[in-house]
Amino acid sequence: MLNFWHNRERIIRIMKISELLKTKEVTISCELFPPKKGSELKKAHDLVKEMAQLHPTFISVTYGATGGISEHTVNLANEVQNVNGVPALAHLTCASSDRNKIREVLGELQEDKIENILALRGDIPENADFPLPNQYHHASELIEEIKAFGDFCIGGACYPEGHPEAESIEADIVHLKQKVDAGCEFLTTQMFFDNQILYSFLYKALKKGIDVPIIAGIMPVTNVSQMKQIGVLSGSALPQRFRMMVERFADNSAALKQAGIAYATEQIIDLIANGVSHVHIYTMNKPDVAGAILKNLSEIYKG
Ligand code: FAD
Repeated sequence: MLNFWHNRERIIRIMKISELLKTKEVTISCELFPPKKGSELKKAHDLVKEMAQLHPTFISVTYGATGGISEHTVNLANEVQNVNGVPALAHLTCASSDRNKIREVLGELQEDKIENILALRGDIPENADFPLPNQYHHASELIEEIKAFGDFCIGGACYPEGHPEAESIEADIVHLKQKVDAGCEFLTTQMFFDNQILYSFLYKALKKGIDVPIIAGIMPVTNVSQMKQIGVLSGSALPQRFRMMVERFADNSAALKQAGIAYATEQIIDLIANGVSHVHIYTMNKPDVAGAILKNLSEIYKG
């Protein structure tokens, strides 16, 4: 038991994502979303185990969806890090919570020694007055709160094609700089399907003085329903090559899965070849898809 805690302390000391991004040549992380019901936690824990066995650099755990709160993010992040030994990145959104709720979650994360937080505003809930006096307006305000609360490594979201609410990409990048100035140590991008869009964004961000590591978010599209979600949720531009792939294999789920894995693999290889060495795979609770991509990259990413 003592050994476990000793090991645990040792692991925890090297767990800040900012450090991992500095010291590892290539990083590849995966993502999990927690179950809505507590009764599904056992299944989620099995999923964490499967994902951890793939040796990603870290595993992120989302917080609610479309702005809602999440009862199980801390539990799952704890399972990722303190049971399976993989650094955890806990997402935290503030659009549906007041400051007291946020401080409560930060206290829980601190207790579990989860040091990495992806600080997000979240989507504004429909039919809600936002922000109420006891709420944060933007992710930058949440970042300031987290920084004042404790010794966390804080990440934020960025949007190579611009956030849907932003007047322009330029305006969005100005706000992004505020997030970095508030204490954001790395950024993870929204999914994109055309690497040229990311390269252009990286150039613009650097020109505005954003010099923290930017992790490229890649979404393997392995079924038709995901295509519809992408359009609605991310507004990402879909290149002709990508559309042709989905159209051609729409009626053959196994073929579409294989093609989607190959497309994501190719995107990642092109990114790494062009100096973008940090990649986050939106694995959508699919360890088989994550595993297939990592197998394709076995000589490029060693875990
Ligand atoms: P912000 O950075 O606050 O930006 C939101 C909008 O406000 C932008 O248009 C920005 O330009 C503008 N803005 C920012 N600051 C200012 C300012 N000072 N003045 C005026 N305008 C400003 N959602 C979830 O519910 N759960 C998750 O776990 C989750 N994980 C995500 C992970 C990643 C990597 C990404 C890219 C998104 C994720 N989302 C998640 C979605 C995210 O919550 C939404 O996109 C949300 O609408 C914006 O959150 P944000 O943190 O980017 O907000």
